[in-house]
Order: sequence, then C-alpha cells, then structure tokens
Amino acid sequence: MAIRAAALMGVAATLLFVGPGRVPDSAMAQQRPPPRVSAPATIDPYPTATDTRLGGDDNQTRFVMDLTRKVELRAFTLADPYRVVIDLPQVTFKLPPKMGESGRGLVKAFRFGLVMQGGSRIVLDTVKPVRIDKAFVLEQTDSQPARLVLDLAQTDRDTFLRTIALDNPKVARPDPKRFEREAPIKGDPRPLIVVDPGHGGIDHGTRAASGETEKQIVLDFALLLRDQLEKSGKYRVVMTRSDDTFVALDERVRMARARQAALFISIHADALKKSEGEAQGATIYTVSDTASDAEAARLAENENRADVIAGIDLSREPDDVADILIDLAQRETKTFSLHFAKTLVTELRNVARLHKHPMKSAGFKVLKAPDVPSVLVELGYVSNKEDLKQLVSGSWRNRTAASIAQAVETFFNTRVAGSPASPQ
Ligand code: ZN
Repeated sequence: MAIRAAALMGVAATLLFVGPGRVPDSAMAQQRPPPRVSAPATIDPYPTATDTRLGGDDNQTRFVMDLTRKVELRAFTLADPYRVVIDLPQVTFKLPPKMGESGRGLVKAFRFGLVMQGGSRIVLDTVKPVRIDKAFVLEQTDSQPARLVLDLAQTDRDTFLRTIALDNPKVARPDPKRFEREAPIKGDPRPLIVVDPGHGGIDHGTRAASGETEKQIVLDFALLLRDQLEKSGKYRVVMTRSDDTFVALDERVRMARARQAALFISIHADALKKSEGEAQGATIYTVSDTASDAEAARLAENENRADVIAGIDLSREPDDVADILIDLAQRETKTFSLHFAKTLVTELRNVARLHKHPMKSAGFKVLKAPDVPSVLVELGYVSNKEDLKQLVSGSWRNRTAASIAQAVETFFNTRVAGSPASPQ
C-alpha cells in the first residue's frame, strides 16, 4: 500500500549516544568563536539556541550551535537523501529566519524545530555520505555559551551504508495521552471533523519571500475554521495540531481513523518557484493514484516530503490500514470526498479566488484513510503577492473559513438526506 511507503524511506540509522559525562576533544581549539555573553534576560523553561556556525570544507565540516545551557544530544545519519539528525530535549530556537538555508563544506542546508512536545531536532542535509566524527556539548563558562559541536567527515556510500545499523532509532513517541485528552466525550452523536493544519515544528512548509511560513498561516486559519465549526454546535472538532509541533503524515491519518472521523480537512498553502511561473487562487485536492496534472503531481510530492524533512520516519508499525482495506468502503469514501470537494468549490467561489482548475487529485499521503472522507485545501500561493495579502488578512480568513463551514453544513445535510452526488 502506498500508505506504507513512508515506512520504507531511509530509516536505517547509526546512533551515537553522547551523555553528559563525555569530555570534549581538544580539537575545539581550532575554531573557537569570539567570546559571547550567554545569560538570557528572562528565564525560559527550555534552553535557547542563539547562534550557529559552519566551518571547514568538503572533507571535514564542523557545525556549532550556541545554547544557553548544556543539553544531552543524540546524533545519527540517514541515507537517501543523506542527512544527519541531532535529537535534543526541547529547545527554543532564537535564530534568524533564513538560518540554515545555505550551507558550507559537507552541509548543504539545515533545519531545526520541535518534532514533538519535549523534543527538538536539527536535520542537516549533506552533499555526500558523511561520518559523524564527534558530537558533544560543551558546558557554558563565564564568557562562553554552552556549545553543541558536530564534526562530520566525508566517506563513501558503501562505508556509509555499512556503518548504518539496521536498528531504527528509538525515537520517543508523541505522548498518546496527549491525544486522549483531546478526545471528544464518548457517546456524543455529532459528526467528528478533523481539521489538519499542514506541516509544523521543524517542517515549515513553503515560505513567502517576505518570510511568512506556511505552517503558521495554515495553523492560524485552521484554528479559525475550528472555531467557526464549533460555533454551530453541530460538530465535534479535533485538530491534528494546535501549536507549532511536527506531526508525521500517517499520524494525522491515524488520528482521524482512530476517532472514526466523519470528515478530514487538511489545510495548506502552496508556492511556485520563479522559474515555475505564476499561479494564484485556492485549489481543492482529493486523493488519487494518478495525478490529475503535472502541477498536482509536483504538489503531492512536496507535501509528502514531511517525514524526510523531519529527518526520520516516525511512523509506528504498519497498522491495520492495509489489511482491512475493503474496496467497497474505500470507493464510498472516495465518492463522499469528491462530493465534499465539489461542495467546497461551489462555496469558496463566492468568497475567494480559485485556481483556474480548482479541483484536482493526486497521491497525497494525508488523504489516504480508506474510511474517512478527506480533502486537502490549498488556500492559495504564498509566492503570489495578491494571494499572500489575503492569506494573512483577518477578514479574508473569516470569510473563507465561514464558507468552508457552510460547505461542511451542506455536505452533512445531503448525507443525512440520503445519498451524496452519484459516483462519477
Ligand atoms: Zn503544505
């Protein structure tokens, strides 16, 4: 099943545990940065990352991150694409927004952010296979912040793959109790809608030239949509995330299925590179094995990269999805999804600019629940000035969220009344 594909991505990893007792190497002396004063003015419950530096060349590269206090770290490598992952306890990143977009030496670029409550992560994309030579954190001193140091050396692919242990690193799972707390009261007969703001934490999604991130835009919008839906009193609403946390794609699907959701609405914003031309307006996507056009295929590929961006497959053992797939149920789900997508296009047309082809389909992992009607709404393009203006506008958001809520209402009314639009 395609839903399993995430589990097959580069999960093999080699681990390097570095505990607090480890004494750093004298090699640090070479690249000692200028002294910095590290004490923050306010007490943050979490250590804060205040700066990063990259040094070295194509053979050996050093990554340094300044922190307000010492933390424990765990570092490992992943293949295809080549990455180095550093897991830390929760850290507040106070770094410039474009930090990590370009690299040096063996490091192409890097990302950082929350991957779960209590856990932060740095993912470095490397230009070729690398070996972790050293990974440690230096205690802060009077004149120096605590420093995380990672030394990478180049290696060849065979060696890289050989040294990768086959054991999947035991990444702490998101606390299931966290979701239980969010679970609705049992016996509530109202339909449950899962609202899914895309990306989060370490995965920013697309980014406007002026700095606005997709993960923030879609979270703001999704919270508004939740409020609009709840206001009617007719639905229960569960968010896949309500803060800036990374949630793996299959976890989002699992949350909807476990609650027997009646509808799953994923919210995203798209972007085109300058070389890809201009596009504008909202698009509604449903799932399909074959993409409806090249743009839909490109988008699905981008949106499905979340697990690669986060640096590791966080998915559990393949669950029952593959085994209980009943063709009939799935076909019915597809019909409902399509019906809702059409209703949504009709409603949105009144309040928002739509893409010239507003209904498309492609293989989005997040839409693959076989038993939950699911759509993915791309609200617009952050690369388009007019779209961006609307995406951050309070009145546009209110209008658009209200029209989605209206489409939900129409959808459930027709469902209760009998059959949805006939299959096509
Ligand atoms: Zn997205």
